[in-house]
Amino acid sequence: MTERSCEVLVVGGGNAALNAALAARERGASVLVLERAPEDERGGNSRFTAGAIRVVYNGLDDLVQLMPDLTEEERRNTDFGTYSQDQFFDDLGRVTQYRANPDMAEILITRSFDTLLWMRSKGIRFMPMYGRQAFKVGGKMKFWGGLTVEAYGGGPGLIEMLHKSVQKNGIEVMYGTRALSLLTDERGVWGARVRQGRHDFEIEAKAVVLACGGFESNSEWRTRYLGPGWDLAKVRGTRFNTGDGIQMALEIGAMPYGNWSGCHAVGWDRNAPEFGDLAVGDNFQKHSYPFGIMVNATGKRFVDEGADFRNYTYAKYGRVILEQPQQFAWQVFDSKVLHLLRDEYRIRQVTKAKADTLEELAQKLEGVDPQAFLKTVAEYNKAVQTSVPFNPTVKDGRGTSGLAVPKSNWANLLDTPPYEAYAVTCGLTFTFGGLKIDTQGRVIDTEGEPIPGLFAAGELVGGLFYFNYPGGTGLLAGSVFGKIAGTSAGAAAATNT
Ligand SMILES: Cc1cc2nc3c(=O)[nH]c(=O)nc-3n(C[C@H](O)[C@H](O)[C@H](O)COP(=O)(O)OP(=O)(O)OC[C@H]3O[C@@H](n4cnc5c(N)ncnc54)[C@H](O)[C@@H]3O)c2cc1C
Repeated sequence: MTERSCEVLVVGGGNAALNAALAARERGASVLVLERAPEDERGGNSRFTAGAIRVVYNGLDDLVQLMPDLTEEERRNTDFGTYSQDQFFDDLGRVTQYRANPDMAEILITRSFDTLLWMRSKGIRFMPMYGRQAFKVGGKMKFWGGLTVEAYGGGPGLIEMLHKSVQKNGIEVMYGTRALSLLTDERGVWGARVRQGRHDFEIEAKAVVLACGGFESNSEWRTRYLGPGWDLAKVRGTRFNTGDGIQMALEIGAMPYGNWSGCHAVGWDRNAPEFGDLAVGDNFQKHSYPFGIMVNATGKRFVDEGADFRNYTYAKYGRVILEQPQQFAWQVFDSKVLHLLRDEYRIRQVTKAKADTLEELAQKLEGVDPQAFLKTVAEYNKAVQTSVPFNPTVKDGRGTSGLAVPKSNWANLLDTPPYEAYAVTCGLTFTFGGLKIDTQGRVIDTEGEPIPGLFAAGELVGGLFYFNYPGGTGLLAGSVFGKIAGTSAGAAAATNT
């Protein structure tokens, strides 16, 4: 039975959904947002993030438009560099092995700056990501890796600001309300069947935007599509993204699209809970491995820790860790680089070993063959090209020579106590496969035609990410395609009377 109606129904309560809602409202539509989570767990994966957003900028003037609060001192003492469209195209192309859909990539990149400016106009504030993306060089903070901007207050701040804007714009949010299926007839989608507690009912709408995440929190789908072993991964974020949006669209004939066997997965504390913990946020991650080595249970290195900036390797190394015996690894550092470790290494909920000698450390690395570990370190230390200077802000080419598993950059000797080691397993962030959309955010069916009245954005859209992912692009994709989907849905609702 139909109990409610609106012009645009937005399914989901993360960054993509809330931007879609704001854009649809801007087109004059009445908008209703369905958030499966209760209010205190609202915000999806977006809330678990650090709020890092990749954006094209051609210098300080652009950044000042996005962040007018930059102080004089920050402007003077920071080398922000630039991040051009070409650089972004190169980065996205390289890490996705040139499989990213070219139309989607172009939209994402060319509209990144304007979309963030638009978000600013909706009350979203940004700031420079000094804590994680800049190092001090010659008295100045220097940004590296193309990731300069974060939402004020990180992911939780982003969701707060979006909700303030949603409220200010007269958009209603129904919490604890799960969309189950889409209502369709020969004219297209006209609403959704939803569940609140044990009560199922229908909501009528002129257009529906699906923005309710991937299938990362559905262990059965993970195993089915990502492959054996993925049921064992920890989920870094929300427990509510179980693939509902993808399923309900496929049920009415939407086309599956993108890298269904691929996902974003990182090194994550070995003893982290099964799903994300909002109090810890993303701090179970351990992303400073480029400055140390990683060993598995057999005491051996298994991956090039310094293949690229961490922004371009972290999202694929979770899978590599999952493939190791017993799905874990230890990251090992010596005291020379401890000051470079990101803040997430200093939280209370960390699985850590510390020792004054390598022999003592070898005994403390739970689950690792100690003799093999010592042999690995000895061989690694011999292979480091110490004549090349170490520089964390560029790919310094200080690698190893002659090792079966090389380390290409930032290779330092492990020789200065105290030594610290951190145990990680695979933390799954989000899945890459999903629905196909066109450049207007319309969901495409298996015949290649748009499904009238149905739009999508965010994690549940496939085609952008394959194999890997450039850091800060998930939020950007949600913002850019959320705005597009919302705008199109608002326009469709206006014509669909
Ligand atoms: C720990 C962590 C750190 C991250 N760090 C970053 C970062 O710094 N920068 C970056 O760009 N990306 C980051 N990401 C990735 C980023 O979070 C996602 O790519 C992005 O937030 C996805 O946005 P979304 O709106 O599509 O999905 P989400 O934000 O996950 O929102 C999905 C929403 O749908 C709701 N929902 C699910 N099913 C239903 C249903 N049936 N009915 C109604 N509602 C439903 C959920 O409750 C949720 O509100 C991180 C992710 C995690 C987990």
